[in-house]
Amino acid sequence: MNQQHRDLIERDRKVTFHASTHLRDFAHGDAPGRVITGGKGIHIVDKDGREFIDGFAGLYCVNIGYGRTEVAEAIYQQALELSYYHTYVGHSNEPQIALSEKILALAGPGMSKVYYGLGGSDANETQLKIVRYYNNVLGRPQKKKVISRQRGYHGSGLATGSLTGLKAFHDQFDLPLAGILHTEAPHYYQRAAEQQGLSEREFSQFCAQQLEAMILAEGPDTVAAFIGEPVLGTGGIVPPPEGYWEAIQAVLAKYDVLLIADEVVCGFGRIGADFGSHYYGIKPDLITVAKGLTSAYQPLSGVIVGDRVWKVLEQGTGQYGPIGHGWTYSGHALGCAAALANLAIIEREGLTANAAETGAYLQQQMQAAFGEHPIVGNVRGVGMLAALEFSVDPAKRAHFDAAHKVGARIAAAALDENLIARAMPQGDILGFAPPLVTTRAEVDEIVARAERAVNRVTDELVREGVVKAAMSLS
Ligand SMILES: *Cc1c(COP(=O)(O)O)cnc(C)c1O
Repeated sequence: MNQQHRDLIERDRKVTFHASTHLRDFAHGDAPGRVITGGKGIHIVDKDGREFIDGFAGLYCVNIGYGRTEVAEAIYQQALELSYYHTYVGHSNEPQIALSEKILALAGPGMSKVYYGLGGSDANETQLKIVRYYNNVLGRPQKKKVISRQRGYHGSGLATGSLTGLKAFHDQFDLPLAGILHTEAPHYYQRAAEQQGLSEREFSQFCAQQLEAMILAEGPDTVAAFIGEPVLGTGGIVPPPEGYWEAIQAVLAKYDVLLIADEVVCGFGRIGADFGSHYYGIKPDLITVAKGLTSAYQPLSGVIVGDRVWKVLEQGTGQYGPIGHGWTYSGHALGCAAALANLAIIEREGLTANAAETGAYLQQQMQAAFGEHPIVGNVRGVGMLAALEFSVDPAKRAHFDAAHKVGARIAAAALDENLIARAMPQGDILGFAPPLVTTRAEVDEIVARAERAVNRVTDELVREGVVKAAMSLS
């Protein structure tokens, strides 16, 4: 590492509180830092000039890839005209209007209006407020509970961190808050290990039964909404088992429970459809978007409100006056301009179709490389989302002892190969979510680097006696 880079990190250690970081180790120089200075396409570059393939598109958000000057230009042009004016009491800006039209056209029939925020967490916070308001206006003040899923990810605030179904986001924060519940995760690979013999469809039915049992136990008149990602993201990149969404939606309809589709990862092409909901036949009442909306060139999120809820929101303001909800930066003109430029690139370059086609190639190459690998229990994914779940004994789907930190070690080994893949926070799972501009040749390179990383750690685990010698690859 060069001196300039070292100096920057030293300064950073003294002054910055980093997200998802071991605060003590980082502050005291015991955990690594890195300063990123640029990027082009699927590559990023650090202060040393070292180039990485970003196999996770930042945090599955830089869908159009790095360094797109068209977006920079759109932001600049808008900033010259108007960076900001608030959007309260009916004020608007031109990019906001055009963007809402575009989002609603992509979302398809049944969707009525778009409300803007800055990130996925605040958008889901808005969803929770809408759900409460909706039932208060309808005269059902007791219908307020929200059901999320174990392994769901919906943000990192108090309410949205409660929706999130991951231990690390709850512990020491006294979460989840009351009124937020978690039902079965649709993680077929893991649960089928415990429930031998269930087919995917049967497991989906099982998940729906669990949901129904929870609604009945709580009282259907107290359950307001269900929130889910079309494909579990941060919880392990888990596509739903066959028939899952159909079975879940039947239960929600039966008990008049609103469905919020958290499309923060899936929205705008990542799995080869404009929305994950389209891909899986989900008919949500409310949709959350963020990440891929701007490919992270500016912070922007949105809540897409369906007709059924919108009617009630109108009725509510008829009764109670203007809605008591708003962020200073709602509908920020620079965010909306960036989103329009981003969505134009996705459309012009056919990136959603590329996510389907090159994504299918990614799935196929991952299966070919890891399907029979001695420490890989499950290879899964859809479109440009993929994951490897590691296992000490794939035939038994047995987990590694968490103390071996296998997922984190493999992510570190990948980094040595100049490949960024993400050790997902719960379990030994390595996630991939490359930009939607990734080519087949780049997929080959990602898989080749991942293979070297996994094999190296496998050999280490053999030497350490964690994995049986017969499994050694060298
Ligand atoms: C990232 C994410 C969020 C939270 O978005 P932030 O911008 O980090 O607040 C919410 N839902 C899903 C599905 C996400 O992946």
